[in-house]
Amino acid sequence: MKKLIVANFKMNQNPSETKQYLTKFVAGFNGNRADVVICPSFVSLPVATFLASGSLVRLGAQNVCDEEEGSYTGEVSAQMLKDLGVEYVIIGHSDRRNKFKESDRLINKKIKTALKNGLKCIVCVGESLADRNTGKTFDVIRHQIEECVKGLYENELESVIIAYEPIWAIGTGQNASVRDVENAAKVIRKVIYESYSEKASRDIQVLYGGSLNEKNVGALLNCSGIDGGLFGKISLNVNQFLDIANNLK
Ligand code: PEP
Repeated sequence: MKKLIVANFKMNQNPSETKQYLTKFVAGFNGNRADVVICPSFVSLPVATFLASGSLVRLGAQNVCDEEEGSYTGEVSAQMLKDLGVEYVIIGHSDRRNKFKESDRLINKKIKTALKNGLKCIVCVGESLADRNTGKTFDVIRHQIEECVKGLYENELESVIIAYEPIWAIGTGQNASVRDVENAAKVIRKVIYESYSEKASRDIQVLYGGSLNEKNVGALLNCSGIDGGLFGKISLNVNQFLDIANNLK
């Protein structure tokens, strides 16, 4: 099965830069080895959806409001994203959890609102360095997943993708090891097994993210239990990301 690879531009790439990026990416992407989701900033999504329309490239947002509509100044709703042609949304990235103090409860509500409006959710979980150093990695992941999927029906998991992103590996140049990633994927699938079923635990897509690059991507994305990757920094370079997307082993 093809891997799913997701680009998170974070607060980078203006609309004009996104236009250049998408023009090049859409023209060069062959779709043979991977499915690709690109997540630019909200303001770049209109130009991105225009350029990606009819191509193999899917689009995602980096955040969504937990409320459906109304007096929430500055927020962007799931309906708005859907209307624009966006298919995915990243929810619970560690930037949102830590810098914007998003709780598991809020993340759970965002997931429910996104799913209700037909978006696929890329839900990020992962431990801090302090958690890792005190042997709490698996407890933290378990707790985050249990809270994030609380109240979801099993069939809704078809639109949920879990991204294991250890916080200490994000943007640091220090990726997790194959063993770390395989163990985390096992725990993620075990929690889904216990909360749902064997089928759900097998079928759910699990990604790894954290300092992926052209050298480590082959080993880390071919770990047992891993269906793809979430890329930050390296995805900003269109040539490098195209190369990864087209030539993934
Ligand atoms: C991320 O922010 O989700 C991420 C994986 O970033 P990087 O690839 O730069 O570590």
